Amino acid sequence: MWRAALSQAIRLSSSKKASITSDLVSRPSRFFSTSSSSYTIVDHTYDAVVVGAGGAGLRAAIGLSEHGFNTACITKLFPTRSHTVAAQGGINAALGNMSEDDWRWHMYDTVKGSDWLGDQDAIQYMCREAPKAVIELENYGLPFSRTEDGKIYQRAFGGQSLNFGKGGQAYRCACAADRTGHALLHTLYGQAMKHNTQFFVEYFALDLLMDSSGSCQGVIALNMEDGTLHRFSAKSTILATGGYGRAYFSATSAHTCTGDGNAMVARAGLPLEDLEFVQFHPTGIYGAGCLITEGSRGEGGILRNSEGERFMERYAPTAKDLASRDVVSRSMTMEIREGRGVGPLKDHIYLHLNHLPPEVLKERLPGISETAAIFAGVDVTKEPIPVLPTVHYNMGGIPTNYHGEVVHIKGSDPDTVVPGLLAAGEAACASVHGANRLGANSLLDIVVFGRACANRVAEIQKPGEKQSPLERDAGERTIAWLDKLRNSNGSLPTSKIRLNMQRVMQNNAAVFRTQETLEEGCKLIDKAWESFHDVKISDRTLIWNSDLIETLELENLLINACITMHSAEARKESRGAHAREDFSKRDDANWMKHSLGYWENEKVRLAYRPVHMNTLDDEIEPFPPKARVY
Ligand SMILES: Cc1cc2nc3c(=O)[nH]c(=O)nc-3n(C[C@H](O)[C@H](O)[C@H](O)COP(=O)(O)OP(=O)(O)OC[C@H]3O[C@@H](n4cnc5c(N)ncnc54)[C@H](O)[C@@H]3O)c2cc1C
Repeated sequence: MWRAALSQAIRLSSSKKASITSDLVSRPSRFFSTSSSSYTIVDHTYDAVVVGAGGAGLRAAIGLSEHGFNTACITKLFPTRSHTVAAQGGINAALGNMSEDDWRWHMYDTVKGSDWLGDQDAIQYMCREAPKAVIELENYGLPFSRTEDGKIYQRAFGGQSLNFGKGGQAYRCACAADRTGHALLHTLYGQAMKHNTQFFVEYFALDLLMDSSGSCQGVIALNMEDGTLHRFSAKSTILATGGYGRAYFSATSAHTCTGDGNAMVARAGLPLEDLEFVQFHPTGIYGAGCLITEGSRGEGGILRNSEGERFMERYAPTAKDLASRDVVSRSMTMEIREGRGVGPLKDHIYLHLNHLPPEVLKERLPGISETAAIFAGVDVTKEPIPVLPTVHYNMGGIPTNYHGEVVHIKGSDPDTVVPGLLAAGEAACASVHGANRLGANSLLDIVVFGRACANRVAEIQKPGEKQSPLERDAGERTIAWLDKLRNSNGSLPTSKIRLNMQRVMQNNAAVFRTQETLEEGCKLIDKAWESFHDVKISDRTLIWNSDLIETLELENLLINACITMHSAEARKESRGAHAREDFSKRDDANWMKHSLGYWENEKVRLAYRPVHMNTLDDEIEPFPPKARVY
């Protein structure tokens, strides 16, 4: 509507004069002109284009280059600044370095952790590939922590068990101290440098280029340094743009986690899956929101209330502090509600590490010891850390099959592949995490499915294969939109709309939800979207215009936020991270299905698709649903 009406306002003109070429395959520039401005367009052609250079994007790009594809990787951040760099605790794989282990046990834990919303074929694929993926990272040079005898050290993590839940706590999480993401991202970036992937750094992807038959032909991006626009034509486009934690007021994720890829997909008329499942990590630092890894509890840390009680023993008698994240976050919230929170306002909980040997803290948890000192003013060897459940991860995202191909509903087929479009990492929903992700399963997800995307492209496409040219008006609507936004002169600055959105999400789509809070949330978030029509941008330039970029990110966040709230309001049950006080039980008869949220005419429309309850082969039988206790 709003965007569509603009397309008439622009004129396309070719020009022989301009010739900005930033790579060998770019075509001479053209100009797009609007009534007020002229935009320089550079066209590029690649076999494949990856959007995002976090763990998922880099692993996909490495794989594509290894298969001989001419690959572009577009990223709004310098690759090693992607949020993957902040991951602390580690990556799960049944390597069996600390005790006997089996990928089937890992699979059982993941299905149970997902509260039976995860697709079991995809979960089988990920858990079976995990040991290979971690050894591959070791071979790439990732400096893992080691055991005395030189094997990769593995720590305890939440929701991990041996022998299908019957054999006690598993030690399955491989790590590089508490800086695993840092080590992983730098290792992958080093590998990517070895290949001839063409990086487009500080390019902001704006929209997908879809043809009239519904196939993806590439993306259009803004070079933030010089304001030129770039159309990347590619036979395969892989979205690896990460999560949208910043839709909330308090989140552990970077300010750049704004769900851009998700919103690009929604704007292309395709659905987003299971967005109502937002993970709250039990231990964000009170006030600052920075993460204290679950690895701290894996190394023996415990949570206590104002009475000094280790309350998790009451909620999860077996797993205690290492129960699944949704369970621990809810238990903490209950303690606070019942008046047993700590601090002057009794509104948070203490995480104790001070009973652990100082050498363990120094060797295994140096990063969070530093974080606690800086952001909470706490010496972890002496005092507890004040913590609160904080938004951490988006289980939902762009629906894909276990190859990474994006799927949607067409006719009676809920698994129809969108030609030319794949997705991996936190942006995607494969769905291996279902209603709740287990800690250390995301670093695994990003490398396994980044690689799966590259392998899938190699199965269906040949390097150098001819591609149909972009449709003549490809990207026009997006440029018209960008122009309109850049010149917007409403009454509300971006930061004001963003703060309002973040508060609505924090209050109305919280750890516990009710019909009342969600209904109100739908009204308020729809209003927040409406208010975006009245946005005001003060900087009109195209060069390093952070005002414009933040506004584009806000639009993306708002689309994610609207779909999250409406999907949550509709789901009348409690499952994983979606905890409803008015529907406190899981309802498999009516709700064992994935939500699909479409963004149509600036409104959310919901549909559903079945959960895959099948496995890939007879190496393992599917796990039938049962009650989830820890
Ligand atoms: C503090 C913290 C600690 C964590 N610890 C762990 C852990 O120990 N173990 C675990 O398994 N998981 C952990 N997680 C989760 C995990 O780290 C993330 O889910 C995962 O790293 C996401 O990787 P990604 O490649 O999908 O996205 P990201 O690493 O977020 O990368 C996104 C990429 O997309 C690019 N991008 C985005 N939008 C655009 C655009 N419009 N145009 C161009 N480029 C764009 C960015 O530049 C970036 O390169 C943690 C998360 C946080 C926040």
